[in-house]
Amino acid sequence: MSNFVFPAAEIPSAAVRGTDARYAVSRIFCVDADHAREMGADPTREPPFYFTKPASALTPSGSTVPYPTETRNYHYEMELVIAIGAPVFKVTPEVAKAAIWGYAAGLDMTRRDLQAAAKAAGKPWDTAKGFDQSAILTDIARVADVGLLEKGAITLGVNGVEKQHGDLADMIWSQAEVVSNLSHLYRLHPGDLIYTGTPAGVGAVVPGDVLVGRIEGLGEITLTVGPAE
Ligand code: MN
Repeated sequence: MSNFVFPAAEIPSAAVRGTDARYAVSRIFCVDADHAREMGADPTREPPFYFTKPASALTPSGSTVPYPTETRNYHYEMELVIAIGAPVFKVTPEVAKAAIWGYAAGLDMTRRDLQAAAKAAGKPWDTAKGFDQSAILTDIARVADVGLLEKGAITLGVNGVEKQHGDLADMIWSQAEVVSNLSHLYRLHPGDLIYTGTPAGVGAVVPGDVLVGRIEGLGEITLTVGPAE
């Protein structure tokens, strides 16, 4: 393993709460839809839509990140993140549920202006969603310790003012349904994270802003927006 022409990148990972161990991350999947429909009323229940972020975009809670380049509309999306703990492929929601090994709080940071332009042009979202330091993540709490988080408040405040407020029970697709659906598109395995979508109230932040998100039964995530690079 020493014949790489350049040193291999460090394996992205997250701390596992209450242990000295870390969870090595290989892929980051994200559920997206019109934001009013990720959580809250959706009579149509259209199938979930996914995009990915590179694992290298992972950034720990508590960080200060620079205001990203090439955007004038940098947004937060507060989300519950699922950590997969068993290989699953084409499984039912019941089997999928048993593969939910842990949870973290996450911020799916977004260049909203680039996303809107990509949507309008039918182009990919990579530069809007998968840029450096765009996947903020807390430590991972094991389901064995905190239980399945199927209800409870999920909130985000900016500079102490609440901007997002939802309940995990209001996800359009249950966690088991999301994992099941995704398992029909990919062979999922430990190391896969799923950002599950955000409540209404996404918005822009600017340098100096401090974001604090909370998920009942799980904990808190924080992020400070630094000056533009
Ligand atoms: Mn999102």
